Formats: sequence, C-alpha cells, structure tokens
Amino acid sequence: MKPNLVIGNWKMNGSQQTNEVLLRAVLAGQKNDAHLEVVICPPFPYLASVAAHLQHSNVVLGAQNVSATTHGAFTGEVSASMLRDIGCRYVLVGHSERRALFGETDEAVAQKFVAAIDHGLIPVLCVGETLDERRAGITNGVVTTQITAVIKHAGIEKLTRGVIAYEPVWAIGTGETASPEQAQAVHRHIRGKIGVYDEQAAINLQILYGGSVKADNAQAIFSQPDIDGGLIGGASLDAASFTSICDAARANPGGTA
Ligand code: PEP
Repeated sequence: MKPNLVIGNWKMNGSQQTNEVLLRAVLAGQKNDAHLEVVICPPFPYLASVAAHLQHSNVVLGAQNVSATTHGAFTGEVSASMLRDIGCRYVLVGHSERRALFGETDEAVAQKFVAAIDHGLIPVLCVGETLDERRAGITNGVVTTQITAVIKHAGIEKLTRGVIAYEPVWAIGTGETASPEQAQAVHRHIRGKIGVYDEQAAINLQILYGGSVKADNAQAIFSQPDIDGGLIGGASLDAASFTSICDAARANPGGTA
C-alpha cells in the first residue's frame, strides 16, 4: 500500500525561535506509522536548523523552490544538489504563488521538476485552476496542460517518480476549500490522464490535495479514494492543527493502490 503524504509548507514565515517551538510540538504529536510520510518545507535560511531538529525523527525535510540550473552565476538561486546536500528529500515545484507572483511558466516548472529528479529529490508538482477557469468549466483542461508540459520535457517515467499536488488557486490561503467531491473529481481526472501513459504508475502515484485544508475538513477530504494526503499551508504553522491533519491522513490510508 502506498503511504499517504502530508506536507507542511511554511511559506515565508517563521524565525529561529518560533520554528523551534513549532517543531517541538509537531514532533511530539507524531506517531510511528509506515502508512504516512510527513514533510516540513521551511524557508531556505532555516533548512539546516530544521534538518538538525528532524534528525532521529520520522518527519522529513523539503524545500519550497529549486533552481533549474546546477551551479554557477545565478545570484539568489539554490540548486537541487545543494538541497540534497542539506538533507532535503522533497521540493515543491510550480506552487501557484511562484507561478502567479514570480512568473514561473509551465516550461520553467518542467525544468525545475527535471533538475529535482536528476539530483535525487522528489518534486511535488503543484497544479490547479483559478476561479475564472473553474467558472469557465476548464479545470480539467488547465491541470492537464500543466501536467503535460512536464511530461513533454521529462517523460512519463520521471513524472511518475514525483508527486502531484492539486491545488485550486481559489482555495489557497482563502479559507475556501474545494468540496471533497470537487477535489476527488479532479484527482480522478489526473490519475486517468497519467493512466493513459502507464496504468500501474498512475495507481501508485501520490496525488495530494491542497487549499485551506484544516483540522475540521481534513478527514472528509482524505477519505476520498484518489486523494493520498495534503499540501498544507496556513494550518502547518499551528502544531495542533497540523497534528490533527496528520492524524486524519493516518486514519485514511491506502487510496487506490
Ligand atoms: C499551500 O501553500 O500550498 C496551501 C495549500 O496553503 P493553504 O493551506 O494556506 O491554503
């Protein structure tokens, strides 16, 4: 059975002092469970100190972004090999905030995805539609385009070594959540699209939901058959909420694999 996955995306929040308090409480709430992998993605400056905290725990480290290039004169960039070196196992690519605020195109996201895979990281490819796109009835087309861009660049084999996070843009940080049925429908669509290339890989692929997941809606979302966990923003900054969300993912193991 594939494990569920819960990823806390701290975004640009925290300090040495608040991180320590938060991590202590998060780690105290974790249970040893092979059916759930928990990941924390702090801002870059805190990766090393968070890595030290997570040593000897079953929570693993992720980053929020990665450069598509390997090394050299790219001021301000951080490479995949550096992230591996510091202890990251996962990295987010194509988060909607990166796409909307920093102009990341499907092509740039695809290059980052490949850089991550090629350097031993597990990329978490974030896809999702805006509210206008949902209202226009083109949600499935939008996520298909975003995923196809990566398949074109990386190939299906590399794509399925990563994770996909379906994150409707209108639900991120807004308090609005896709209903469990809305989320399930898009997850099913994504799995079906991947299945056209490789049926078994589609079954094994972890597809996460993200967008205002909270302690009180996590259970309903994670109980959907094609939802294999969550990408959690705001609620990952509150240890009690994050712990409840992890518990909800533990209570709904399995998915379709
Ligand atoms: C996110 O950052 O990916 C996210 C889903 O944020 P939030 O949970 O705050 O909506």
